[in-house]
Amino acid sequence: MKRDLYETLGVARSADEKELKSAFRKLAMKYHPDKNPGDAEAEKSFKEINEAYETLKDPQKRAAYDRYGHAAFEQGGMGGGFGNGFAGGGAGGFSDIFEDIFGEMMGGGRQRRSSGGRERGADLRYNMEISLEEAYSGKTAQIRVPTSITCDVCSGSGAKPGTSPKTCATCQGSGRVRAAQGFFSIERTCPTCGGRGQTITDPCTKCHGQGRVMEERTLSVNIPAGIEDGTRIRLSGEGEAGLRGGPAGDLYIFLSVKPHEFYQRDGADLYCSVPISMTTAALGGKFDVATLDGTKSRVTVPEGTQAGKQFRLKGKGMPVLRSSQSGDLYIQIQIETPQKLTKRQRELLQEFEQISSKENNPESTGFFARMKDFFDTLSD
Ligand SMILES: [Zn+2]
Ligand SMILES: [Zn+2]
Repeated sequence: MKRDLYETLGVARSADEKELKSAFRKLAMKYHPDKNPGDAEAEKSFKEINEAYETLKDPQKRAAYDRYGHAAFEQGGMGGGFGNGFAGGGAGGFSDIFEDIFGEMMGGGRQRRSSGGRERGADLRYNMEISLEEAYSGKTAQIRVPTSITCDVCSGSGAKPGTSPKTCATCQGSGRVRAAQGFFSIERTCPTCGGRGQTITDPCTKCHGQGRVMEERTLSVNIPAGIEDGTRIRLSGEGEAGLRGGPAGDLYIFLSVKPHEFYQRDGADLYCSVPISMTTAALGGKFDVATLDGTKSRVTVPEGTQAGKQFRLKGKGMPVLRSSQSGDLYIQIQIETPQKLTKRQRELLQEFEQISSKENNPESTGFFARMKDFFDTLSD
């Protein structure tokens, strides 16, 4: 059983940033390994103090801890494999996704509207990364999302079965208290019940009075063919459970499409840059490209093909979302100049150069002729 973080630092749950910091400093000095050489107990305490402070100094982590206790940070407790649930889990892995979710859950966007203590659950965010091939064909993805759901033991009341929450004595159930401050009387959220208007004297043992428990759920997400990078998919009501009978939030899937080794995407069109040899460009030739539909397309290069030449493969691009149409695939030709010539190759090319005519290279011949004329007009 892990020690309570507030207890570890010896501060009250209501401690502010300053109090946390000074308590941490004091204890860290006391238990610092330099001051307690060879003392394993001190070292353990020092580690605990550090961990407690790391968590509590971060408002988001602190809020998560206040709500879920140590369970908020235990990967094993939620299956650990979360993040690998889809296509290798993307770059972020568990902690990033988890932080994202908590970031959303605890962030400023959260609305605490108490109407009879009911509160809408927070919206959750899930980052999903898919390959271009998956975006091409579409798929049904199973994702595992850690989220809080209504506690089944107390049905969300937070009170032990057989008992019921009591009206808060501080605010008489209004959830608000008035405090005089100079000339003004300010109304603010009741510190005793946190605005709920009720206090739980006998908390439910499963959810510790929260009315919600963390659970990992598996959801099926339909990714339509042709989906674009940056798309947001909303799963209504699949977010965090509401408090005390409030409606659940929504789950947002933020979808990104991984860059592809060969294809760049522009809307429904795909672009592929293909290097061909100088001789293929001059003599003509053929090559195959593997297209995303799983077939091969043959591209015929006519003789005398120039660098930058573009070939269009009609309908071989991405499907257009919710239609039967498809974009095109553009093959852009690059010409590779031969390197590391052997003596024999060099001789052949030199001989080739000697017997070349202006017609072989009309562009460069014309260009340098015009450049010379331009120079002559400048120096006249
Ligand atoms: Zn419960
Ligand atoms: Zn109250």
